[in-house]
Amino acid sequence: MVDDCLFCKIVAGELPSERVDEDEHTVAFMDINPWTRGHALVVPRKHSRNLYEIGEEDLRHTAAAGRRLALRMRDGLECDGVNLLNSCEEPAWQTVFHFHLHVIPRFTDDPLRLPGSPMSPGTDELAAVAAQLRG
Ligand code: 5GP
Ligand code: ZN
Repeated sequence: MVDDCLFCKIVAGELPSERVDEDEHTVAFMDINPWTRGHALVVPRKHSRNLYEIGEEDLRHTAAAGRRLALRMRDGLECDGVNLLNSCEEPAWQTVFHFHLHVIPRFTDDPLRLPGSPMSPGTDELAAVAAQLRG
């Protein structure tokens, strides 16, 4: 547990939350400001700042819990789809620095829209960035 971490406090039960699922490694609870009806968060019990720092085991457990919740949303909320979202560091919209997956049920007529528009890089640029990634 890390001092002053909101989600560590939720995991420890020191702050209230609407829990919807938990297991040995993870806790899932409702997002306080949902983007759609049913928007929930899954967090590992063990603190890590974000995707850069989480251990692979915890990542696996959190992903599995996210999928479990997605299936429950499909069957219980009768949603039409689900987005799994993770934000890593502030430029990528992370605001709470304890790793979490957003599990967002989607409905055909919900108001969510993609926040950006796709670019059309030339083949040279695609090749250049691919080369950078290959290292
Ligand atoms: P991020 O912006 O880091 O990807 O996601 C943080 C999420 O945590 C936001 O969607 C925000 O609504 C949610 N959140 C922030 N504070 C609280 C809280 O005290 N309780 C709950 N349940 N969710 C919170
Ligand atoms: Zn934490």
